[in-house]
Amino acid sequence: MDDHAQRLVRMLDELGRVTDEPGRLTRTFLSPAMERANLLVGDWMREAGLTVREDDTGNLIGRLESPTPGAKTLLFGSHLDTVRNAGRFDGALGVLLPIVALAALRQRGESLPFHVEVIGFSEEEAVRFAGAYIGSKAYTGRLRVADLKLRDSRNHTLREVIESHAGRHYALPKAAHRPRELLGYVEVHIEQGPVLEAKKLAVGVVSAIASQTRGRLTFRGKAGHAGTTPMNLRRDALAGASEFVLFAESYARARPGLVATVGTIHVPGGAANVIPGEVTVSLDVRHPNDAACRAALAGLVRHAQRLARRRRLVCEWQPTMQHAATPCSPALTARLARSIRTVQGRSLSLVSGAGHDAVIVAALTPVALLFVRCRDGLSHHPDEYASPKDLAVALRVVDDFLSGMAGKP
Ligand SMILES: [Zn+2]
Repeated sequence: MDDHAQRLVRMLDELGRVTDEPGRLTRTFLSPAMERANLLVGDWMREAGLTVREDDTGNLIGRLESPTPGAKTLLFGSHLDTVRNAGRFDGALGVLLPIVALAALRQRGESLPFHVEVIGFSEEEAVRFAGAYIGSKAYTGRLRVADLKLRDSRNHTLREVIESHAGRHYALPKAAHRPRELLGYVEVHIEQGPVLEAKKLAVGVVSAIASQTRGRLTFRGKAGHAGTTPMNLRRDALAGASEFVLFAESYARARPGLVATVGTIHVPGGAANVIPGEVTVSLDVRHPNDAACRAALAGLVRHAQRLARRRRLVCEWQPTMQHAATPCSPALTARLARSIRTVQGRSLSLVSGAGHDAVIVAALTPVALLFVRCRDGLSHHPDEYASPKDLAVALRVVDDFLSGMAGKP
């Protein structure tokens, strides 16, 4: 497999140079670089024996037909778009690795008793339009009229952008498959976190994609002169917000599986000599279990309001985003774990704190995720790195998984 791993490394490098911005990697929805990326990856798919098509939303779909009559289809995929100034593994790995695995299979003259489709989703990162997963939503028939009204920074709607790309009127697509035609969906992705590195493991399997809630907490007190207002008469909104930030940290630390983050603090009209009268902080709460996520959020907001009252402040919660947890398929995940044990000796199960295309595809078919260790847990950054050795392990796991699915010993 090592030749194949080297080939995968070269492909990741080459695709990592396909960019809309000179000097750094940026590929956004239906951009010129995305068209070039699809041409390049499409060529690699063809070399591996896949037939290639692109749908109206720019999803690249390669299909390997099985000779077995009545065969079902196994999906592999991830996204080919990137954030601005991205690394070259996020997304790309989950498209290129299955292509290399299928090429290796072909080289050995083996066929599978099921069809395989490898999908390079056109949009996951919400860079051009402020709504993520356009590619996987289109593929699974979950794109809505409201999505088509989203506007990019040049004020073009999603519908306009798709129609000018496709050259015709765009009707909301049906799902690419009926659920009963499918065996499931497997996404290979860098971990984007530090757990595998800490456990000294190349790969791990994902049990669930965490439930995710995001919103804004606004604390209101009274602005005042920093020199003339005595401490005991102050209603300092920032002091209250700060107490909340530390509370959220200790609250999440005391609850396994829970992560809570205040990522922004906004002090409108803030000045060195003014007591802050109003402060808004963001709050992001995630947990592998929906009910636990809801309960934690309620607990945090309740405490914010309590501490606000004590400080004679008013506190208001405004939710902005809510994603339910996505459990991975126990059957597919068990198969992946078995392959991991075969290749690596030990399988670790972890929760994905980040969303992936699998969140959307899960509405169509059972999903499983294979995580690959990345250096320092770093992602969405040009220094993002997964070692060729770890990629070789991931490739062997997928190869073994395909054999297992095919019923070979
Ligand atoms: Zn990704």
